[in-house]
Amino acid sequence: WFVVFEGGDGVGKSTHVQLAAQALSKAGVDHLVTREPGGSRLGERIRELLLDPATGFVAPRAEALMYAADKAQHLHDVVLPALRRGAVVICDRYLDSMIAYQGAGRVLDVDDIRGLGQWATEGLRPDLTVLLDVDPREALADKQAKDRLEAEDSAFHARVRQGFLDLAAEDPQSYLVLAGRRPKEETAADIRAALGRLGV
Ligand code: C5P
Repeated sequence: WFVVFEGGDGVGKSTHVQLAAQALSKAGVDHLVTREPGGSRLGERIRELLLDPATGFVAPRAEALMYAADKAQHLHDVVLPALRRGAVVICDRYLDSMIAYQGAGRVLDVDDIRGLGQWATEGLRPDLTVLLDVDPREALADKQAKDRLEAEDSAFHARVRQGFLDLAAEDPQSYLVLAGRRPKEETAADIRAALGRLGV
């Protein structure tokens, strides 16, 4: 199974990726935790370039192509081999992030970005996407602008959020949308239940 965690900055995605992985370890399920951007050797270098303020302004189309390159390498090196051996792959961000950030966020044509992302990922779709949806004003309130993106304005983050919600609305059966900030145990229990429904 291919399980993806999506959401804006500061929504607690990494925490829930870790908690889901712990639950799978406890249940003795073969799994792999990975992330985009990153996850592969090339991807980690692309990630550094993308997030380093020293890179300076990255033109939106160049940014989209770098994310696409990251995805293609990650799919080839990490995701497909793990799925082939029968492992559950838990991925922190995937194609929806690209559509939401590089498409909706950067105001590029969402269908172009979707097409580019699908090409890069050979059309591989997640079996389940967990979307953590928190108002960006709340999600970013207690975080400092630690990298290039978190310094983006609130309109950018609002577009990204809506981008994610639009994707979930297109295919509700493949999504678990968890709205708002709740105690993390509750959110984790909902995620574990959704994995159970999937047969994990
Ligand atoms: O989720 P994570 O902290 O790994 O993401 C790193 C940064 O990259 C975040 O600031 C996120 O907003 C940004 N990002 C992006 N476009 C993507 C994926 C991540 O701008 N497709």
